[in-house]
Amino acid sequence: MTPLSRCDVLVVGGGPAGLIAARELLARDRALSVVLLERDRAIGAPVRCGEGGGSDGLSEFIDPAGASWVSRRITKVIFWAPNGTEVRVAEGDVGYVLDRTRFEPALAAEAGRAGAEILVGTEATGLRRDDNGWLVAVRGPSGEASIRARLVVAADGVDGMVARWAGLDTRVPSRDMESCAQYLMSNVAVDQDAIYLHFGDGVAPGGYAWVFPKGGDSANIGLGVVALRARGRTARQWLDDYAQSYFPTGVKVGYTVGGVIVHPTIKRTVTDGLITCGDAAHMINPLSGGGIVNAMKAGRLAAEVGASALAARDTSAARLQRYHDEWMEMLGDDHVRFHRLKDALSKFDDAFFDNLAKTANGIAQEKRTLRRIFGSALMHHPTLLPVVAKYFV
Ligand SMILES: Cc1cc2nc3c(=O)[nH]c(=O)nc-3n(C[C@H](O)[C@H](O)[C@H](O)COP(=O)(O)OP(=O)(O)OC[C@H]3O[C@@H](n4cnc5c(N)ncnc54)[C@H](O)[C@@H]3O)c2cc1C
Repeated sequence: MTPLSRCDVLVVGGGPAGLIAARELLARDRALSVVLLERDRAIGAPVRCGEGGGSDGLSEFIDPAGASWVSRRITKVIFWAPNGTEVRVAEGDVGYVLDRTRFEPALAAEAGRAGAEILVGTEATGLRRDDNGWLVAVRGPSGEASIRARLVVAADGVDGMVARWAGLDTRVPSRDMESCAQYLMSNVAVDQDAIYLHFGDGVAPGGYAWVFPKGGDSANIGLGVVALRARGRTARQWLDDYAQSYFPTGVKVGYTVGGVIVHPTIKRTVTDGLITCGDAAHMINPLSGGGIVNAMKAGRLAAEVGASALAARDTSAARLQRYHDEWMEMLGDDHVRFHRLKDALSKFDDAFFDNLAKTANGIAQEKRTLRRIFGSALMHHPTLLPVVAKYFV
């Protein structure tokens, strides 16, 4: 990296959003110069994720069949109610538990083959705008430098600063920030074809616990809690109790913590010469906390709108607004509804969810799809009607 480099697009962040943005920009225009910065020393590590992803969403971007980045293929979803009642949803092609230490490098290889320059161990430390576009300050293995870019893609994740430096409001209300902790545990006896989701105020207040199999006798076992409801205890303390109660013979071989923003998309995701995507723009599903596929969808949309803006030599906020509008139409408006739904559901107590589990188990297992569970819950629990109404408001 020379002290002042130039590129058409500077992507900040080598997660799913940034890597897909880089790959897809070059798929649309091979002549673009695209530089991607990743602060960590390796793409894909350290992992701060349960690593679950849906089949359909992932397959839009990269083929999972036989891929080295698949830890497990998942065909079953099992819910545990607060009192331990198990609800098994009908089996099907649910998704995958990934190995993100391989998944992101696979995406990076594709972006690199398409022509992106990927700089690891290199961090954006600030940016300012002048008549010639953005000037981004970076710090890397060879010291400090500046990169001039016609377009910046801010894909710097949950604690990203780039959009904020550019003047966008990325603040998160504390009730919409979940603190998560996760162990990779071995010596755990779980169905390696199933993911388990465990709810309850005594398990993970404001969030849920998950068990995502990783092959052999291992699994990612984690939980997320809303700090305001966590009764002064950290996510790790809740997790330690959980692991002790449910997996007492499990061996902890890895540990990670991280935040998940369960808040709808920020109000403005673009400004002159800059597009924000993925967690940096709060594009996580507020109900499930899943964000990998959403980040990739946002990265692809950023590439589509960005490439056409660059070709037209107009990267003004007005031109880039199409990105925001199309995102809201594709998923953002649903997230607003999911957020309201989550809020309404948080007012019910554990006894209600125990009853809900009982109702769900009244449906024959082979017919027990999420849609049927939802329909039956509505019939049997009229208190849910105002909640559902909120969804459609
Ligand atoms: C504990 C936990 C469990 C989760 N489980 C799941 C799950 O099972 N399924 C799911 O779909 N989602 C899950 N998520 C959410 C998921 O990890 C994110 O939604 C997803 O990674 C978002 O992708 P992204 O590209 O927007 O951001 P990230 O993957 O966070 O990538 C952003 C990258 O930017 C880099 N970066 C940040 N600042 C700079 C800078 N200034 N300069 C250069 N680089 C920078 C970071 O190092 C990082 O690599 C989980 C999250 C947590 C914390």
